[in-house]
Amino acid sequence: MPNTFKYIYGPVPSWRLGSSLGVDLLSQEGKICTFDCIYCQLGKTHIYTRERKVYIPEDLIKKEINLLPNDINIDYITFSGRGEPTLALNLGKTIKLVKNIRKEKIAVITNSTLLYDKDVQEELSYADFVIAKLDADSENIFLKINKPIRGITFDNVILGLKDFKKSFNGKLALQIMFIRENADHAREIAKLAMEINPDEVQINTPTRPCGAEALNIDTLLKIKEYFSGLHLISVYEGRKKDVKPISHEDTIKRRGKF
Ligand code: SF4
Repeated sequence: MPNTFKYIYGPVPSWRLGSSLGVDLLSQEGKICTFDCIYCQLGKTHIYTRERKVYIPEDLIKKEINLLPNDINIDYITFSGRGEPTLALNLGKTIKLVKNIRKEKIAVITNSTLLYDKDVQEELSYADFVIAKLDADSENIFLKINKPIRGITFDNVILGLKDFKKSFNGKLALQIMFIRENADHAREIAKLAMEINPDEVQINTPTRPCGAEALNIDTLLKIKEYFSGLHLISVYEGRKKDVKPISHEDTIKRRGKF
């Protein structure tokens, strides 16, 4: 198939979302993010910012969505891509537009840094499923693992998560990436997860090439015990569907090998 797709990619087999078609509202050559996580599979953050703006006009997304083959098998249309999707000022507008064209559910994978912003909360409220990152239990671990841009604090992220959970009517999952640096903090992270009270907790460890080592299955199983009482899924137990991407090259750019 000729490569007509620049801003949408996949579908990719996801242990969290089944067959997931990605929408990248940032789509620059480099990564645009409020974080520079030590395990990020996209490499270093190129544009380190907390300023929201339109990077890709929604009409371009609409054009590509309309070109999808009729027989494509998608469970979720997922806003993710090369950086933090809530930095796109037209996120809410684009979610609404895609919902008008397609019947699939919409997911957004966010690093939670802008959840304190009421505009971001409102835009995310159009999604069916929000997967929000929490990797730390303190400012210290937050700085070490996520390396936020100046002005984003751990306390603000926690307040944003709690506030968003109160108003969001869709499904909220917390995604937690466990690596050597936060493995000993699992009990405290689990306490925070219980306070936030998401619909699901996704226990992850890096399984694709990146700058951090994956924890083994036994360690992850021990970590899971701290979260008992919450609905849990974990990367080692999740099943991946067999799906065929519309463009292999563009999918690799956003996801690494899959
Ligand atoms: S939030 Fe996501 S895109 Fe941004 S640096 Fe972390 S892992 Fe990479």
